Amino acid sequence: MKLWPPNISGNEINGVGDTEVRKPDIVWWATENDKISFGEMQEWFYKNEPNDENLMKLRDERRSIINTPLPEIKEEQSEKKPCEWNDCLNQFLDKGVCEKIGVTKLRQEWVYSHHRTKFKNVILLGIAHDFDELITAPTLQAGIEVTRQYCRAASAANEVAAWLRKEGWDAEPVTGPMVGKILMIPHALEAGFGELGKHGSLITPEFGSAFRLGAVLTDAPFELTQKANHGIDEFCSNCRVCENACPPIAIKPEKKMVRGETKWSVDFDKCIPFFAETSGCAICIAVCPWSRPGVGLKLAEKLARRAERLAN
Ligand code: SF4
Ligand code: SF4
Repeated sequence: MKLWPPNISGNEINGVGDTEVRKPDIVWWATENDKISFGEMQEWFYKNEPNDENLMKLRDERRSIINTPLPEIKEEQSEKKPCEWNDCLNQFLDKGVCEKIGVTKLRQEWVYSHHRTKFKNVILLGIAHDFDELITAPTLQAGIEVTRQYCRAASAANEVAAWLRKEGWDAEPVTGPMVGKILMIPHALEAGFGELGKHGSLITPEFGSAFRLGAVLTDAPFELTQKANHGIDEFCSNCRVCENACPPIAIKPEKKMVRGETKWSVDFDKCIPFFAETSGCAICIAVCPWSRPGVGLKLAEKLARRAERLAN
């Protein structure tokens, strides 16, 4: 807490209470610590982590994937119908490179204020966690699992971007946790991945919140995947599992206004000290009932049947 920047609230940086739509600013996960107010805390987070061999190996692996040069963009551009582009994209699901894919328009209000991009589309990639590892959160074991899946996300984004460049279309991979270019969650919501949970993370029917995101920016003319409603938002209004499980009580029972939108939003100022001390915490995404293997799809079916009954 000694490293907390004086008189600064992460919630303010995040735009909590702002009624106007505006571009987001980075509050944490900056690629360079000295570029953000919470830079010293972020640096402490990295330096304070246990010197575990597996964790360090995975960190190195992620860095090396991110630094791998992409192939040159082929001069001749492949032309396909939008639905054919999506069929080709599904090869990455078939090969087990990722577990979920969607495509949406890139929205400038979800591009970080310091970043400029000319791309029009975003491909979203879902990378599933091993739930048995994640449920140990907030242990080092869960922190290692998170880093392992960030490696897979980085690798998946690189593979998709490399494929597009070989097809003659410019493409840029984006992976967490140091994203720095775009917000991935709102784009994934638009692409039909699922809904925003009370814990501020995305919930999909297939994996709950037990997954990571990767993305690829491109102009290749994919068919856009459709936004989906599974009743998750309403479910969250009546569930308190993550609220009760969060040690610093950072998850609140009501939505907040954030940069012009009323939505679930975690109290950054309460979350981050605990998060920084526990290898990235992750309790809230692990305890969410939707994250338990096999539960989310059944819940979604049940909620769809209920909605149909009510509509009739
Ligand atoms: S634990 Fe409950 S309230 Fe929290 S995100 Fe999951 S479903 Fe929503
Ligand atoms: S990451 Fe941990 S501290 Fe932060 S909101 Fe989730 S449970 Fe709470």
